[in-house]
Amino acid sequence: LFIDHPLAAGQAVPLEADQAHYLSGVMRLGAGDEILVFNGRDGEWRCRIVDIRKRGGILEAAEQTAPQRDPPDLWLIFAPIKKARTDFIVEKAAEMGAARILPVQTDFTNSERIRQDRLQAHAVEAAEQCGGTFVPPVGDLLSLAKVLEGWDPSRSLLWADEAAAGEAAPLSDLPGGPWAILIGPEGGFSDAERQRLRALPFVHRISLGPRILRADTAAVAALTLWQAALGD
Ligand code: SAM
Repeated sequence: LFIDHPLAAGQAVPLEADQAHYLSGVMRLGAGDEILVFNGRDGEWRCRIVDIRKRGGILEAAEQTAPQRDPPDLWLIFAPIKKARTDFIVEKAAEMGAARILPVQTDFTNSERIRQDRLQAHAVEAAEQCGGTFVPPVGDLLSLAKVLEGWDPSRSLLWADEAAAGEAAPLSDLPGGPWAILIGPEGGFSDAERQRLRALPFVHRISLGPRILRADTAAVAALTLWQAALGD
């Protein structure tokens, strides 16, 4: 269970109403029972339920069961698409070990708004289900131009370019880290964006194979290929 609260031996950890409901109503746990908790910073802890009610409760952290394990410094930057598919991208990126997830508005992005809190909750659920100790932060929607303006050039931007389909070998000659993968929207990248991206020294064009993949498939494929080549 993810609880955003410091974890240390003997630490009292408050439960919110929805967490108390999940533990008592869904998991049928009560005072004295133990659960595993992580907060994204302090590893995984075995915690004892001290008190549990409808409106909340208290846990006590007993011992650390796993150290904190942060993923490699790989971000996923993607243009949001339809709601369910955007949810899918965030969920899979969190499962696949992205360190940060940044939705960006590109020239052909249709959605002008995202529910950042909803997407963050998907990232938390994904981390919970795969037993991780890390939850990638999900950013607010920013324009691609703004993200590129503030870019730290020591981070390699792996630009998944649909126009490179069939041209280059998938993720060949990867530069050193840290990295970010950039995935475009349904309509791909505009000519102006292509020109801009091609001119930037930290951008590396990558191909995901000879077929044009849907944006959500492309995100999972790029993360998978990166993990296969460089992941730990
Ligand atoms: N029309 C489809 C859809 O509805 O999703 C295709 C979308 S494709 C243009 C979306 C993004 O996926 C591209 O901008 C690119 O980032 C990535 N992509 C898809 N296929 C790719 C490939 N073979 N190589 C590199 N990137 C690819």
